[in-house]
Amino acid sequence: MAARLRTLMDLDFSGFNRPVVFLRLDLNVPLKAGVVTDETRITAALPTINWLLEKGCRVVMCSHLGRPKGDGYEKEFSLSPVGEKLAAHLGKEVLLCGDYLMDGFDRIVQQLAPNQLVLLENLRFHKQEQKGDKDFAKVLAKGMDFYVNDAFGTCHRADASMVAVAEEFPLERRCAGLLVQKEIDFLEGAFRNPQAPVTAIFGGAKVSDKIAILQKFTSIANNMIIGGAMAYTFLRYMGHNVGKSRVEEDKLSLVGEILRAAEARKVKIILPVDHVCATEFAEGTMPITCNTADIPDNLMGLDIGPRSSAIFADAIRSSKVVVWNGPMGVFEWDAFATGSRSVAEALAQCEGSTIVGGGDSAAAIVAFGLADKVSHVSTGGGASMELLEGKELPGIRVLRAAL
Ligand code: AMP
Repeated sequence: MAARLRTLMDLDFSGFNRPVVFLRLDLNVPLKAGVVTDETRITAALPTINWLLEKGCRVVMCSHLGRPKGDGYEKEFSLSPVGEKLAAHLGKEVLLCGDYLMDGFDRIVQQLAPNQLVLLENLRFHKQEQKGDKDFAKVLAKGMDFYVNDAFGTCHRADASMVAVAEEFPLERRCAGLLVQKEIDFLEGAFRNPQAPVTAIFGGAKVSDKIAILQKFTSIANNMIIGGAMAYTFLRYMGHNVGKSRVEEDKLSLVGEILRAAEARKVKIILPVDHVCATEFAEGTMPITCNTADIPDNLMGLDIGPRSSAIFADAIRSSKVVVWNGPMGVFEWDAFATGSRSVAEALAQCEGSTIVGGGDSAAAIVAFGLADKVSHVSTGGGASMELLEGKELPGIRVLRAAL
């Protein structure tokens, strides 16, 4: 079993006067014309920032944002709008700093007043960040007393600020922030000796993206519900006609393996029995309900049908632990969002522990206004998926108590 995660409670500030904390956050929020369109990751960062401020720390925050080229400043990817939001939430001044690699930056940090915080400009303006560069990490860590990682959504990446910077600090001066702690508690803890039945719901575009997690859950779940486009590869394997639906022909044998593993472990695989279809993949296309598991040749399945929704909802509501990863249909288009909405509603009604993996299912449950009705909505798509697959994330490995 992996060693214990070090948390804020493990930090010992005695002997430090207003310690300087390097705080890695995941402030990679969506922006439209320079305006933050979803603040989830900003508000999720606040508890740790406030905790450190209450302890009298000087806080130097940093994050990446989007995919800049990595050779200098690009206005489109500036963290400036994020800094403004942080300042508004915290009621403090947030100083955005672009020159943090310059000599003497650590001395500037020493002069921070209690009502000031520093936000380093987008780490990915420097290509060394994604290369995990150790020299870059040394410069970033200079003058800092403690390292705190609260960037859960980036923990599956071995970027410099996630691993090499952490390694610049002795183990007793690095730890996870409150968000990372919560994510690990839910995403790992929920499946440690869980009460049955455990139901895992998978959806989204491709089987190929989710092979590892599907395989993993054949040894964890009692029920595996499969919706979204990936259901059509399963249905095709089982001999159904799926019309023009998206099928990954080269993954049919893998589907066979998953089904055999599930059967051997008595895991119930629950597939759609009806569909909402269309003649083409286009917004505004007319939804046509298909009452059987088979789809006529001229149609493609873009959502699960009403009978499937009812079957899925029954299994979800009677579960003790539920995890949801991937929408049931093209939920971005209203006409094909009903299946995902009904899954979200069933999760909200379930009295067990209900966890929504990040990415599109998180976006869906937020869009349906049900995020506060489930136990946990992960802030990390890729990170939550790798964790659920059973992988040790590089950003987490360096925060374990004994390595
Ligand atoms: P993923 O990132 O793998 O979770 O996939 C999410 C995407 O899958 C969303 O953009 C959905 O619109 C898409 N999707 C879900 N169901 C279908 C479907 N039946 N046909 C095509 N795309 C789908």
